[in-house]
Amino acid sequence: MMQNVTILGATGSIGQSTLDVIALHPEQFRVFALTAHRQVDKMQQLCEQYQPKYAVMADEASASVLEEKLAGSATQVLTGVDGLVWVASHQEVDQVMAAIVGAAGLLPSLAAAEAGKRVLLANKEALVMSGQLFMKAVADNGAELLPIDSEHNAIFQSLPANFAGSSERREEVRHILLTASGGPFRGWSKDRLAKVTPAQAVKHPNWSMGQKISVDSASLMNKGLELIEACWLFDVQPKDVHVVVHPESVIHSMVQYVDGSVISQMGNPDMRTPIAYGMAWPNRMDSGVGSLDFFELAQLNFEAPDHEVFPALKLAAQAFEMGGTAPAILNAANEVAVDAFLGEQIPFTAISELTASALEHLKVEDALSLDVILKADRDARRFVEKQISL
Ligand code: NAD
Ligand code: MG
Repeated sequence: MMQNVTILGATGSIGQSTLDVIALHPEQFRVFALTAHRQVDKMQQLCEQYQPKYAVMADEASASVLEEKLAGSATQVLTGVDGLVWVASHQEVDQVMAAIVGAAGLLPSLAAAEAGKRVLLANKEALVMSGQLFMKAVADNGAELLPIDSEHNAIFQSLPANFAGSSERREEVRHILLTASGGPFRGWSKDRLAKVTPAQAVKHPNWSMGQKISVDSASLMNKGLELIEACWLFDVQPKDVHVVVHPESVIHSMVQYVDGSVISQMGNPDMRTPIAYGMAWPNRMDSGVGSLDFFELAQLNFEAPDHEVFPALKLAAQAFEMGGTAPAILNAANEVAVDAFLGEQIPFTAISELTASALEHLKVEDALSLDVILKADRDARRFVEKQISL
């Protein structure tokens, strides 16, 4: 049956990979809606190519320019959060790719879960901020949550079926092994890290990704956010998730079982694999990704993370254990600090320092309502902005 797909964050790296997968299966998937922040030209081109019913731009100005460019076409242009929520929860939609970067993706991703859609979750920040609320929305509304983050997709593939819902299955698993590439600064000293430039930080050795996640990968905050993401997705605790640095990014993560078996999911580092898996689940389909060449690879390496030089990972575990709004504070503080680093206002090492400071100084509340979470997000942003301007 034809599946209607909304892509939140269509102009980004994950958005593009999703469109590439859809283009391979036009008989199975139709693009229902595309959304973007302000990239009008890119959106015009995508709308002409995929003819979605709706296109959503973040602000009125970009929306009216796009509307003019698409005059006479079948695509209706919408604006802002209301537009995002509309296309994420529309009754004609079957699958929603949640691929907006950062907290901006929370409301439409949550709306897709509340509308009982298949949610293809790339936007890890949404889950980090609102884990309890998000997982409840999925359960209460019969949504299907398919992890797209490559590690979580690998864990999902390697865990026993019905792991979260069965105590017998849970007892079969010793722990989860979350792999990390280590980023472009693996093995560097703290002194050297203090002087890195944005251009160096966004140059990931294995993956081509958006700027924010590339900086997060360089600081290991990406792995910290992924640790929290794993705890919510699979209903486990930070102690159940062991981070293993694996520089080749070929093993995407693993599960250690009680009988000594380790099951991993491997493949070329290309996001089209987890995207195609999520879209076709429980079946499989061609993603356009080639086979892994083991002779070319020759060897795989492993090491422990350096918590001294990269404190972000421990900081994230701490935020999850603090509970409530602490992960939302961590996430918002990190987002503002990453932006400031990309704008050359602060050194790379200040990202983790500012995030730690926000966690230390801001009050943590129970995160049972969206209002409380959004307030924690705003307060953390304000706190870090103030620290930066001092
Ligand atoms: P990107 O920067 O390439 O794209 C982000 C998209 O979000 C763009 O379409 C942009 O227009 C849109 N956007 C940004 N700010 C917005 C706002 N305020 N309002 C509305 N739309 C906005 O990012 P990406 O690399 O594609 O990552 C997207 C998400 O997927 C992130 O949460 C990231 O952590 C996650 N993810 C990415 C990868 C990857 O390989 N790129 C892997 C795993 C997870
Ligand atoms: Mg990942």
